[in-house]
This record gives sequence, structure tokens and C-alpha cells, in this order.
Amino acid sequence: MIVMENVCKAYPKSGGRGPVRVLDGVSFHIQPREYAAFVGPSGSGKSTLLNLMGCLDSPTSGRYRLDGTEVSSLSARELCALRREKIGFVFQGFQLLQKLSAWENVAFPLLLKGVEESRRREAALETLRKVDMADRAQHLPNQLSGGQQQRVAIARALCGSPRLLLCDEPTAALDPATRDDLLALFARLHQEGHTIVLITHDLSVAQRAEHRFRVEGGRVTEEA
Ligand code: ADP
Ligand code: MG
Repeated sequence: MIVMENVCKAYPKSGGRGPVRVLDGVSFHIQPREYAAFVGPSGSGKSTLLNLMGCLDSPTSGRYRLDGTEVSSLSARELCALRREKIGFVFQGFQLLQKLSAWENVAFPLLLKGVEESRRREAALETLRKVDMADRAQHLPNQLSGGQQQRVAIARALCGSPRLLLCDEPTAALDPATRDDLLALFARLHQEGHTIVLITHDLSVAQRAEHRFRVEGGRVTEEA
């Protein structure tokens, strides 16, 4: 699903300092249907790595293949199309549209694809059922708890049936009990055949995944 070979990422110099090399020769792969966690301290390059995996940014050098497509050579427009087709994103801050109901948030990617309303609604309700939120379909985000909002965000990520679910600190804004509920949901989605990649600074979150990678000092190493 994901193959990275010797990937480097540097940010251009700013404020009198030289270029910042964040990732310095990173190689790993992730198989379809795997559940992988990347763990590392704050500032170690986890979000940079997730942005690369998610085709939101391009490596400075090295090769990246996503689901058989060589990403490094694609234009911004092609990256956007690839992202829309293959990837569902989940973020720490949920990123729901506040004026849309739960189901409308979930269906939003389908709206962008031009799917008609009755089919959008049907698909959204189906996906909300998967995350145990079908009974809150009409609620606005501010009428939902943090954990419930994150479930809606996960449903939105899943709605277009992406090949890959990419999650950046998905539980960091939640209390411990809600976090555990959400981790149980990720475990269930994994069992149902989804490919999940999650980044976290929290070792106890990473321990719930099937494979763990450590991000530190510009390198990524797989843990036994
Ligand atoms: P993490 O998610 O592990 O906390 P990040 O990937 O966000 O780490 O950041 C890694 C390093 O790269 C940090 O030192 C950060 O300051 C730097 N960095 C991140 N994004 C940029 C950017 N757009 N321009 C310059 N430096 C950046
Ligand atoms: Mg980060």
C-alpha cells in the first residue's frame, strides 16, 4: 500500500538558520489491511511524514509509491486526484464544518464528487452506522461531544471507501475513556479490512496497533 524508499524532507532556511532536514533517508512499507502506528516525540517529523504519505506534500528526494502509483513525479493536480480517490484523513481537531449536520459533514466529499443528494444521504447514514452514530445524523457538531465529533470525522474519512485511512493524533484532544472507545473503533475497522495508519506521541495509543514505527532523529525504524 505504502512504499517509501530513502525519502528525505528538508524545509528551506528561515530566519538566518540553514535548511531544516526533518526526514533524513526514511524507508518502510505498509501492506494493505495493516494497522500501523508511528510514534515519536513532538517535533520529530510525524506530521511531515503523514503529509507525505497523504500526498499533501512532496519529498525533497527519494521515492514514494502509494497503492502502485509512483507519487514523487506527480503534479499538484494529480496529487489532489490521487488523494481524493485513495485516502481518508482524520485529524486531532476533527475539522468538521460547523454549519453542516453530522450526515452532511460525512457526505461532503461525495458532494464534491457530484453524487446526488438521496445517494449521499444513504451513503452517509450507512457510514455513520459503522461508527455507531446513525442516531445523531441530524445533529450539528456543537451538539456532539468530542468523541462523537471524532466518530463523525472518521465516518467522513471512510465515506468514499478510501484504500487508506490516515490519522494525525486522532485521540490527542480526547479524555482517556473516550480515547479508549475510539481505539476500540479503530481496532474494529482494522478487523473489517481497513488499512489504518495513525501517528501519535502517545505510546499507549501506538501499542494498540499491529505494527509500530518509531520516528526520531530524522529516521523511521520499525519496532519488533
Ligand atoms: P511532529 O508532528 O512530530 O510534532 P512536525 O512534522 O510537525 O513534527 O515538525 C518537524 C520539524 O519540522 C519541526 O522542527 C518543525 O518546526 C519543522 N517544520 C514543520 N513544518 C515546517 C514548515 N512548513 N517549514 C519549516 N519548518 C517546518
Ligand atoms: Mg504533529
